[in-house]
Amino acid sequence: MIKVAINGYGTIGKRVADAVAAQPDMEVVGVSKTRPSAEAYVANKRGYPLYIADIKNREKFEKVGISVAGDVEEMLKHADVVVDATPGGVGAKNKALYELFNVKAIWQGGEEHEVAGFSFNSSCNYEAALGRDAVRVVSCNTTGLCRIINAVDSVFGVGKVRATMVRRGSDPGGIKKGPVDAIVLNPVTIPSHHGPDVQTVLPHIDIVTLAMIVPTTFCHMHVVQMDLRADATREEILEIIEKHPRMGLVRKGTGITSTAELKEYACDLGRPRSDLWESCIYEESVSVVGKRELYLFQAIHQEADVVVENVDAIRAMMNGTPDPLESISTTNRSLGFTPL
Ligand code: NAD
Repeated sequence: MIKVAINGYGTIGKRVADAVAAQPDMEVVGVSKTRPSAEAYVANKRGYPLYIADIKNREKFEKVGISVAGDVEEMLKHADVVVDATPGGVGAKNKALYELFNVKAIWQGGEEHEVAGFSFNSSCNYEAALGRDAVRVVSCNTTGLCRIINAVDSVFGVGKVRATMVRRGSDPGGIKKGPVDAIVLNPVTIPSHHGPDVQTVLPHIDIVTLAMIVPTTFCHMHVVQMDLRADATREEILEIIEKHPRMGLVRKGTGITSTAELKEYACDLGRPRSDLWESCIYEESVSVVGKRELYLFQAIHQEADVVVENVDAIRAMMNGTPDPLESISTTNRSLGFTPL
């Protein structure tokens, strides 16, 4: 069994912990929090050993009935690999600690590419992560872009990509972020950072991205346009999406034309926490203008799509299997991930 520690048990960390616990070849040896919270109670209830960043705070946890197993350094002693899911910018500061304890490390998209020197997406570059000691799983938006661009590029060749990200203002549990009543250009300058981030995984892709933030909490929406190098039909693009283990079609028959209805659908499908691990591509939006201009809308569940990527990254780094499709299929199956 691969022993996995999760440093930072928040939006991403708690999902990664549950996904790891569901795998046949992995176990959670610990999760960490900085202060007592609802998530710390849940970690205790789930039976994950709970470690804390600063052991001087032990009493604050125990006074409110939360058991503490030790500090983060203690947690690392039990791990083969640590998934750092601390807030963006904090993760890089933990690098020296992971090196000191000789534990492999995975960072999230809130960190720079340089933290690991390798940016990961299981559908694009799984093999290059085999046996690596350090990996960065790219952000939710970059993950969504990489999946569709790489899949189309492998069949038709992609000349260029132009994409606009309409981003959620906050995660559903967030009470401190906005906007409440505005569309914020983020940034007002063009391009946004997402294009260069895609190039950390797919360096040959010509891509320009734009981004704005809107007052919503469930999903980012991408407006994607690609110029193809070979003639394609709408049906051929739909077939690529249907066959991809990390992309799903939001079918015309569902009548879903929004993220709100998509969330309800995810709940009704019985997905834990309404999580949509796949990129959700609106079937009716998939259009090929002329023969080489592709357009589509895709919803990206920001809290969920990177979770399955973290699980595959663990398997690649620990040489669990050399085959990306085998890892992806084990991850999906263990989560009960059935097509939309
Ligand atoms: P979060 O704030 O929800 O959770 C972070 C957790 O880390 C919290 O539980 C906090 O208590 C803990 N923490 C803070 N400092 C710590 C420290 N020094 N040691 C140990 N734990 C510490 O953050 P998140 O949204 O889960 O984001 C984590 C990472 O994932 C970031 O890099 C972020 O950019 C990336 N990411 C977030 C999303 C998203 O939409 N939430 C999507 C993709 C990637």
